[in-house]
Amino acid sequence: MKNILVTVDTSDEAKQVFESALELGRCFDATLSLIHVVEPVVTDSSYDLINTVPLEMDDFLLEHAEKFLEYLKKDLAPDISSHVATGSVKGEILSYAREHKIDLIVVGSHGRHGLALLLGSTANALLHGAPCDVYVVRIKD
Ligand code: AMP
Repeated sequence: MKNILVTVDTSDEAKQVFESALELGRCFDATLSLIHVVEPVVTDSSYDLINTVPLEMDDFLLEHAEKFLEYLKKDLAPDISSHVATGSVKGEILSYAREHKIDLIVVGSHGRHGLALLLGSTANALLHGAPCDVYVVRIKD
């Protein structure tokens, strides 16, 4: 277990996921990297008047994400590498994992079930298609 990829959103819960991953990293003496994916704001191009808004919004989200990752790392592990990608969360995380020979992806989960799970769980999506093992951190309320 050499390379661990830690996936984080920009919520308060990201710290729980990051702290568990750091613990794993210490156990395996592995190299950690952090990733956050900004999903582009989707608009209908027929509304010309608001075309400039999504571009600015994407820039804002990218800047916010960069700052958030720096904030997250600051006290716990300032030296690890972090990456902000743009695109689909699942697609970007899996292609990063393939390109960087990641051995383990760490992802948070709220343990949703039923309809909530069907509507969207990043952990579930990553499990389907991951080129490596996936470690799921149960997020506590
Ligand atoms: P969710 O399924 O949206 O509740 O998110 C659960 C977990 O998926 C988070 O704790 C992160 O580990 C990961 N995740 C969610 N959104 C993103 C994102 N935009 N970029 C990277 N990881 C994410």
